[in-house]
Amino acid sequence: MSPLEIKKYPNKILRKECLLVKGVTEKEKRILDEMLFTMRHFCGIGLAAPQVGISKRLIVASVEDVIIKLANPEIFDTYGSDIASEGCLSVIDAAVDIKRPTAITVKGLNEESKIIELKTSGLLARVLQHEIDHLNGRLIIDYASTWKRLKFKLKK
Ligand SMILES: [Zn+2]
Repeated sequence: MSPLEIKKYPNKILRKECLLVKGVTEKEKRILDEMLFTMRHFCGIGLAAPQVGISKRLIVASVEDVIIKLANPEIFDTYGSDIASEGCLSVIDAAVDIKRPTAITVKGLNEESKIIELKTSGLLARVLQHEIDHLNGRLIIDYASTWKRLKFKLKK
């Protein structure tokens, strides 16, 4: 397997709302495997399909030996909030402090195309929220202050 190409901001695909998958078939499984491989290759801890040019609701994450592969992930419960700095493989050289819920419950389809419910907190919860943002065309720079966004644009 070779890593897929990571699409970088301001590539338009990163701004598109991704499509729901009808189910997790061999095709989606292969994409999820390639995404996980690509994420690890570039030392990431999460990756969303639009980042490799696929506009489908598929995400992967890996934090402390926990590997998550999800289709159509949806957050339906949140708890607490905290602020932490986030980076993104698609947004070079940006680090943005983002306030997000500390714990979340996520629903989605697993590799067997079964609906699963996942309760997570801490870093994994943050990564999943970051990746789900990608599926909705949202990037970390959208959370930055106007001044920081401007600086980021000037740097490019
Ligand atoms: Zn990202």
